[in-house]
Amino acid sequence: MKKLKRGASFFICFPVMTLLFFGALGTAAGADDAYTAARKDMVLHQIKSRGIVDPNVLPAMERVLRHEFVPSSRKKDAYDDRPLPIGYGQTISQPYIVALMTQLLKVDHDSTVLEIGTGSGYQAAVLAEIAKAVYTVEIVQPLHVRSGKTLSRLGYKNISTLNKDGYFGWAVHAPYDAIVVTCAADFVPPPLIKQLKPGGRMCIPVGPPFKVQHLVLITKTETGTISTKVIASVRFVPLTRKGE
Ligand code: SAH
Repeated sequence: MKKLKRGASFFICFPVMTLLFFGALGTAAGADDAYTAARKDMVLHQIKSRGIVDPNVLPAMERVLRHEFVPSSRKKDAYDDRPLPIGYGQTISQPYIVALMTQLLKVDHDSTVLEIGTGSGYQAAVLAEIAKAVYTVEIVQPLHVRSGKTLSRLGYKNISTLNKDGYFGWAVHAPYDAIVVTCAADFVPPPLIKQLKPGGRMCIPVGPPFKVQHLVLITKTETGTISTKVIASVRFVPLTRKGE
């Protein structure tokens, strides 16, 4: 009787453990799924081929399940070489632009990162694959709620979200090693410069709404001096302010 029980519990436990094992892999960190080949292809032909080399960025782009961040009707287009609509007049950025901005930030496993413009949550997820902690601010409440749900469903534990005007950054967690702004501003918000650590880097599209803007890399030296470098011409949705 005892033997039978042990045997039975082995056979019951085995499938449960198997499920748990594959269940754990099936979260954020890229088990094989229907889109694995599309993701590999995206990294090879859209990202590596355009000169992205950062050994943290490439695997992160291959791991994050981009199709989980787009509306279900657009899943089949998720790995295309372009931005996609996510509702509320907003877009998820083109994969290459996400990779480029992430590489420019030089994020590593000790970094604390601030993102302005959570949107779908995709850029935050890519950062969270590399960094220690990601803080992300979104002004549109339904996007804040939806991205928060997506990120927790996928198992991201090192991302904190906030529904506020990101112009003011997120002061309580400052200073940040890196700041990424994923909406275009007419000028660089001074609170963000203030919240950047000496030695830190910020990437932000600067320019008029719905026209060609400049992707700018801002570096703060250890002594606090600011330097800027224009990296590329881009087109992002505008940074809006409450009441606009
Ligand atoms: N990083 C996003 C891209 C989102 S598009 C992604 O990976 O999907 C830019 C986002 O910036 C939009 O969701 C928009 O609502 C948001 N946004 C615009 N102005 C903002 C502001 N002042 N503060 C915070 N978020 C803002």
